[in-house]
Order: sequence, then structure tokens, then C-alpha cells
Amino acid sequence: MKIMVTGGAGFVGSHLIEQLLSSGHDVICVDNLYTGTQHNVARFSGNPLFSFIHQDISVLVPAFNCDQIYNLACPASPVHYQANPIDTFKTSVIGTMNALECAKLTGARLLQASTSEIYGDPLIHPQPESYWGNVNTIGIRSCYDEGKRGAETLCFDYERVHGVAVRVARIFNTYGPRMLPNDGRVVSNFIVQALQNHPLTVYGDGSQTRSFCYVTDLVNGLIRLMNHPTNPGPVNLGNPGEFSMNELATQVIAMTGSSSTVQFLPLPQDDPKVRCPDITKAQSILGWAPSIPLSEGLLPTIEWFKSTTR
Ligand code: NAD
Ligand code: UDP
Repeated sequence: MKIMVTGGAGFVGSHLIEQLLSSGHDVICVDNLYTGTQHNVARFSGNPLFSFIHQDISVLVPAFNCDQIYNLACPASPVHYQANPIDTFKTSVIGTMNALECAKLTGARLLQASTSEIYGDPLIHPQPESYWGNVNTIGIRSCYDEGKRGAETLCFDYERVHGVAVRVARIFNTYGPRMLPNDGRVVSNFIVQALQNHPLTVYGDGSQTRSFCYVTDLVNGLIRLMNHPTNPGPVNLGNPGEFSMNELATQVIAMTGSSSTVQFLPLPQDDPKVRCPDITKAQSILGWAPSIPLSEGLLPTIEWFKSTTR
């Protein structure tokens, strides 16, 4: 197939492209390199099946004839999506509309990278897809949360109005090699700090939880969902193994053999207190479940940061 991946120069996108190319597909990567890197796509540059277009999707998504579009373009780290909140919102809403227009014109199926953030600070735990969420519409996370909620709305309206085939993946916290040292998300921050024997910056009292999925598990789930014959509605993709930030800090310090201590810093506004996917739907509809626990996935991730921060 001919497949477009927006945001393909980013962390998840580059792993997805690697998998798609190894399955023999033609891949067009569209990215404005806001949080993605040339380095991430340079690894594919010798492959005749791969092409790269430097383009902001909130301005234009080129209408290439393709069979599938994975719409991943959007900064995912709170540090980066909050740095340019209006651009984040434009990318999520106008960018997704441009990608859906491309799908409408070309007949491609579109998979939207949605997020557990659409559940906000959840009042139901773990979160099933049927939960409508608890989002502050005017807070510092809203540019991302509401942008992604609007993007989901657009997907289902393009399906109802224009017959575009859509799939929506609600992705929970994902980690692995190719995250950037300055990404700002917790796994990369803790590992980089531990490797430098600096204090690990735990926000709040560290009791808030997240559920961490290794990137190759996520990519398998995305591909399964894209190729599911019908639109099953939004599907949670994540690892239900749930950890407090204190537990994560302890584990990273132990696994890196670091002499780091922990430094408690203020909790950012609207930081969700808990987060854990109910993956019953992904298991029953896609036959998908993650296979790599945090203790296993942290090993190659730590090795990656050792090689990049050396
Ligand atoms: P990332 O920041 O590493 O990658 C995002 C990519 O999108 C980057 O290459 C960036 O340059 C590109 N991009 C951003 N704005 C763009 C624009 N306007 N036009 C073109 N390209 C643009 O993030 P990631 O972790 O790889 O996340 C990929 C997708 O998955 C995002 O849509 C994110 O919201 C979603 N997601 C990720 C996670 C996670 O834990 N990694 C969790 C939930 C959802
Ligand atoms: N966090 C932390 N220290 C850091 C970075 C993040 O304690 O250096 C916390 C953050 O407050 C949140 C959790 O780790 O409770 C996950 O944050 P991240 O930015 O990775 O993703 P989020 O799930 O909040 O989008």
C-alpha cells in the first residue's frame, strides 16, 4: 500500500514508519520538524519506498493518492504543546481537517492519533472508551486536550457526512528509544537525570499515576486498528500496568545504578491524578494487548539515552 504518516519524524511516527517499510509499503512522511528530527527520518533516506515532505499540516496536507493516512502530527509532550498553544490547537483541529480532506479526495482510510488526555483528570478509573471525560476547557492543557477532542469529532463527522473511513486510537503514555533528551515527558526526564546523577524532578508529591506502554507494542496496536475492517469507534491503546511517579523514579534510579536523589517540585496545573487504560475493547476487537512490561521496556530506553547523552 501507499501510506502517508503525518508526524512521522517524531518518536512514535518513526517507529511506525520503520514497521510499515519493513512490511513493504510505500511511505510518505509529512512533518514540519517541530518536535521531530531529521535524524529520525535520515535512517530511511536510502530506502526507495520512503519519501519526506517538510510541511505544516495546519497549512496544507498534500493530496497524494494513498491508501492509508496515519495522522500523528502534533507535539505530545506538555512542555512542547504548551510552548505554542495556539499552534497546537491549529495542528490538532485544522491539521486533522486538512488530513481528512486529503482522505476524502483520495479515498484513503485515516487513523487519528488521539489520546488518553481526552479523559482529562478522570473521575472513572481505569478509563473505558465509554467515559466522556473531565476536561478543563480553559486550562494550560486544554490546547491539547480540547484540540484532540475536536479532532475526534471531525473524524466521526467526516465519516457521517462524507463517508471517509476513519479509525481513532486513544493512545496512553508511550515511551522508548528515540525520545529526545529534552522531550520533557517523565520517562525521558527521569532517565536523563539519573544518567547524569542529577536529582529526579518529581512534580507534586509523586503519588499521581500513569500507565506506560512500550513503543513497539503501541505501533502493533495502531497497525491492527488501521487494518480492522470496520470502524469500531475509539479504541484505547496502552499498557494497564499503573505506576506512581515515585515508583517510576525508584525504578529508574535502580535500573541505571544512579546516585541520584529525588527533588519534589510543584505539580503543574490540571495534572491528571490517575490514568490507566481499560483495554478490554482492544483485546476483544483487535486481539491486541501489550507484551512488554515497564521493567523490560526501560532497558532499551535507558541504553538509547546512554548513547544520545554520552
Ligand atoms: P512527537 O512530538 O515526538 O512527534 C510529533 C511529530 O509531529 C513531530 O515529528 C513533529 O515535528 C510533528 N508535528 C507537530 N506539529 C506538526 C504540524 N503542524 N505539521 C506537521 N508536523 C507536525 O510525539 P509522539 O510521542 O511521537 O506522538 C505522536 C502522536 O501520538 C501525537 O499526535 C500525539 O498526540 C499522540 N500521542 C502520543 C502519546 C505518547 O505517549 N507518545 C500519547 C498519546 C497520544
Ligand atoms: N512529571 C514529573 N517529573 C517530570 C516530568 C513529569 O513528575 O520531570 C509528572 C507529571 O507531573 C505527570 C506525569 O509525570 O504527573 C506524566 O507527565 P508527562 O509529561 O510524561 O505526561 P502526561 O501524562 O502528563 O501528559
